[in-house]
Amino acid sequence: RKPGALLVLDGVRRCFGGIAAVHVEHLEVQRGTITALIGPNGAGKTTLFNLVSGFDRPDGGRWTFAGRRLDGRSPHRIARSGLVRTFQLTRTLARLTVLENLLLAAPAQRGERLSAALFAPVWRGQERAHRARADELLVRFRLDRLRDEYAGTLSGGQRKLLELARALMARPQMLLLDEPMAGVNPALAQSLLGHITQLRDEGLTVCFVEHDMDVVMGVSDWVAVMAGGRLVAEGPPATIGRNPDVVDAYLGRR
Ligand code: ATP
Repeated sequence: RKPGALLVLDGVRRCFGGIAAVHVEHLEVQRGTITALIGPNGAGKTTLFNLVSGFDRPDGGRWTFAGRRLDGRSPHRIARSGLVRTFQLTRTLARLTVLENLLLAAPAQRGERLSAALFAPVWRGQERAHRARADELLVRFRLDRLRDEYAGTLSGGQRKLLELARALMARPQMLLLDEPMAGVNPALAQSLLGHITQLRDEGLTVCFVEHDMDVVMGVSDWVAVMAGGRLVAEGPPATIGRNPDVVDAYLGRR
């Protein structure tokens, strides 16, 4: 694995009604690792993902990804830089097929925007490559038999797999996964975890929000703990698991 930080945050702040929902002084995510972001409800985890991925604007702070400043950029631009996020509630489009959902997530060429009116972005001759990538992901996530089904007919778990596959269409360097295992049955959660560790082993960097401490301790290389918008502890899972403050205050509900 390549050493070094891929994502570096400094002084990232977001206030709602005068209260700081997020105020992270400094956070680094190392290349090729799985970082779990944990903390109680309302700690600011989703808001932090929204900021870093460009879906919300910070009130202050900056961040770099692979050495490039990304604060102030659009979600589209950030995704094109290789930083892609998923949502707690999956955003698959029910009235498109599984394959169409994947193709819609294919990257547009530099300088082009997704057309709001049309299904496909302008791919400039990339269609064959995008279809090959989609096929590869369908097989990888065992969705190939469902490729022509409407996404609306999928189970919740299958939609989670499709969401992960969509995030990978653009071959990102890093994924931000917001509760990828939430609401999924234990067997599928295991399978999702297997996919995530496999992706990490292939060099992808992953940061995910998760409430289940067994999952966090089992797969992460690093754990970052948020509370009240701040980063209150971080370290390898074994250390975080032994930190009495963290155990009492933030993991107590296990
Ligand atoms: P959970 O584990 O429940 O998903 P979280 O750690 O992701 O929680 P956030 O959803 O980021 O927490 O919320 C952090 C704080 O910011 C909360 O107090 C929340 O009420 C507030 N907040 C988030 N989004 C908004 C918004 N759009 N307007 C006002 N307040 C908001």
